[in-house]
Amino acid sequence: MGLGRFGGGLDVAKFAAACGAEVTVTDTAKADKLADSVDRLRQYGGIDLHLGSHDPADFRHADFVVVNPAVPPENQFLRIARQAGAELTSQIEIFFQLCPAPIVGITGANGKSTTAALTAHILAAARPEIPNAPYGRVILSGNIGNRPLLAEIDEIAAKDLVVLELSSFQLEQLARIGKAPKISLLTNLTPNHLDRHGTFAAYCAAKENIFEFQKLDPADPAVSIFNAADPIAAEWFEKYHADKGRICIRFLPEDVPEKMRNAYPLPGRANLENLAAALTVARMMRLADNNIENCLGDFKPLPHRLELVAQINRVCWYNDSIATTPQSAIAALEAFQGPPIIIAGGYDKNISFDEFGRKIAETAKAAILLGQTAPKIAEAIRRAQDSTPPLSARRRPTPKPPHTQIKTVLSLEDAVAQAVRIAKPGDVVLLSPACASYDMFDNFQQRGQLFKKLVTGLSTG
Ligand code: ADP
Repeated sequence: MGLGRFGGGLDVAKFAAACGAEVTVTDTAKADKLADSVDRLRQYGGIDLHLGSHDPADFRHADFVVVNPAVPPENQFLRIARQAGAELTSQIEIFFQLCPAPIVGITGANGKSTTAALTAHILAAARPEIPNAPYGRVILSGNIGNRPLLAEIDEIAAKDLVVLELSSFQLEQLARIGKAPKISLLTNLTPNHLDRHGTFAAYCAAKENIFEFQKLDPADPAVSIFNAADPIAAEWFEKYHADKGRICIRFLPEDVPEKMRNAYPLPGRANLENLAAALTVARMMRLADNNIENCLGDFKPLPHRLELVAQINRVCWYNDSIATTPQSAIAALEAFQGPPIIIAGGYDKNISFDEFGRKIAETAKAAILLGQTAPKIAEAIRRAQDSTPPLSARRRPTPKPPHTQIKTVLSLEDAVAQAVRIAKPGDVVLLSPACASYDMFDNFQQRGQLFKKLVTGLSTG
């Protein structure tokens, strides 16, 4: 249920067919919306496709329904399946049930992908040579979407180490079977996905499953890792640290040695927190600091995350299209010394923009706003400008004009054109939307790609 465009549904369908199941793939989206996944599925033959809507009969007659993480548990078709006695499961549950290797699970509101990719990079690049290596291959997967979870499950050995990025939806699914990783890490928690979870408390509860369902065994303890700089993570450390059968560790960005900071290519404090997180896992696996330090320079930043697209007439253009929450866009604004020109706005997930508005008023030279949330963000910036003391009265590392210019535009093309008009040599233009992209784009990748195309067009056109 839920073929989707990110490969998860495809992975499940292929896996089930290979297991000898009779497979029906159903999705409310029509075939043309799912063209890529449908094309790839056709190579496998023998799989029925019911697209464009769900048929209750499919749910009444199924033995198993493998549910996409985007489907809420209260969905009416799932109710039909449950009443008919079908077993509900999901890609991540199947993975946890079959994976023989220990799992390092990384979750949080922001920084999951970066932390997971960096952790996997360090674990693979800084491990001692065989025969002293504490583990075999390092496999990075999960919500990060770089490789299908189930396609290669048979090749994972007990001595390997799996690093997974886990979303709140996946953690909700895992709670159904009472499973969690052997090593669990929380980067931070700020409101996100409230359109699906309803309240921040419900969102936090879904994330907390990553610790709650760890197997506590004094002979082979679970490891729980918390960011001490995040108030909720710090609170949870206190809550769990006395448990028997669990080792609790907290980390701080300040703990990262100077030499490692200098070797690390990603800008800003948030990225330093991600490094502190990855370092904690690496040290826990007993990797040597100088091996860790030596591999940091080779870490390739993930695309669409504070990615430098081009420098044109001494203006630096950054693509941070993945910033789908106010908190991640705030982190991006904090990564720069000078006052950036920010392009923001998008799909409305019902999250407050008060803090984001304040941060823009405090740090940005201009805000170019687009999408559903443009009016809400503009309002938050204006409220902040009206209520905060004049900027000249406060200390700032680099001066910024007393009032942040606010421009509302209808398209990303217009946003880039506006930014060209405003930017002066030495400025930074930052696409960091603070919102998901679904109001105007298929996903954040498409938004980021278009931005990169528009920006590179400036240098050639
Ligand atoms: P996630 O997988 O949780 O969405 P990413 O690593 O893909 O996180 O980063 C998403 C966005 O969040 C980027 O805009 C990035 O600059 C910002 N970010 C990265 N790490 C952090 C952090 N530790 N705290 C806040 N924001 C962060």
